[in-house]
Amino acid sequence: ENVLIKTDVVIIGAGPVGLFAVFELGLLGLSAHVIDVLDKPGGQCAEFYPEKPIYDIPGIPACTGQELTDGLLAQIRPFEPMFHFNTSARHVEPLGDGGWRLTTDAGEVFEAPVIVIAAGGGSFMPKKPAIAGIEDYDGKSVHYAVRKIDAFRGKRLVISGGGDSALDWTMALQPVAQRVTLVHRRAEFRAVPDSVVRMLALADAGKIDFMLGEIVSLHGEEGILQRVGLRTDTGVREIGCDAFLPFFGLTMKIGPIADFGLELQAGRIVVDTEKFETNRKGIFAIGDINVYPGKLKLILSGFHEAALMAQQAFRYARPNQKLLFQYTTTSTKLRDKLGAA
Ligand code: FAD
Repeated sequence: ENVLIKTDVVIIGAGPVGLFAVFELGLLGLSAHVIDVLDKPGGQCAEFYPEKPIYDIPGIPACTGQELTDGLLAQIRPFEPMFHFNTSARHVEPLGDGGWRLTTDAGEVFEAPVIVIAAGGGSFMPKKPAIAGIEDYDGKSVHYAVRKIDAFRGKRLVISGGGDSALDWTMALQPVAQRVTLVHRRAEFRAVPDSVVRMLALADAGKIDFMLGEIVSLHGEEGILQRVGLRTDTGVREIGCDAFLPFFGLTMKIGPIADFGLELQAGRIVVDTEKFETNRKGIFAIGDINVYPGKLKLILSGFHEAALMAQQAFRYARPNQKLLFQYTTTSTKLRDKLGAA
């Protein structure tokens, strides 16, 4: 059953630029729904470097990716954006009145005069290991994410990878699984040191198996795994396995947005530098996803683009109203909107 949602603006992408767009639109009285394929806001800042410092946000000498995300969320709270996580924007089509209809893979249908694409490097997708025939098992017994821990109860699990996801899920699934085997190519990990210590303690206590090596083959029928081939220093052997969970990190792909009928250049969306609008009126692209002469893929550029986009978005969403330029410092109207004293 599809749900129809009518709003001023739909923003695709809850990265830093999509979040700040909520603010700039909100100042002009426009409300926004924000959708993201990830299960949380922050885009690259939250996914790739939550604990690393950023030094070039104007006025903030240093903050981590997560701190910037938290600050943006606090800043936009007065505008009550509606978030739709775990949701991918799939398709856009024009409405008769000049607006747009956008559909998602979660069954929502949005109708809005303005769509803002703040999709960064594109959708985050799991990196898949190069094992012959792996796609036959995808979603059935090979999983790149854990949605429900209970789905793995009583199963023989093989988890692969050396980062935080591999270690976190090894520890979270160990109590419910029949057996967890963690396989990693090297003895070094790219994870929080404390997780490594806890994982090795579980292995020492015989509660999990930790193997140095690589999964090289899958064996089963009709997508149901029975065994996997494990290659180690001493050769290849097969181990019993009901579910294989490779955690090899995420890459970004432009994904369904490539089919939105927008002019692209090397996988990025071409915009003007006055309104950051695409070749389709009412569809804007801001942040890392766009391209124009002189473009810098920096957060501060995306913030500027959001401010100029909002000016034109207002004209589409409120065709009969006049747009006044105001400072947040001195405008009582803006201060009211922000809930400031
Ligand atoms: P993103 O942060 O990429 O967010 C886009 C969001 O859109 C993602 O969450 C994605 O899941 C979502 N999305 C994409 N397609 C869809 C779809 N079809 N449906 C639903 N959702 C979708 N920049 C700086 O300015 N200073 C720095 O110091 C700095 N350091 C960096 C360090 C690292 C390690 C990296 C990787 C980047 C760094 N950057 C830095 C770059 C900065 O992170 C990006 O410029 C910024 O994240 C771009 O923001 P964005 O909102 O445009 O896109």
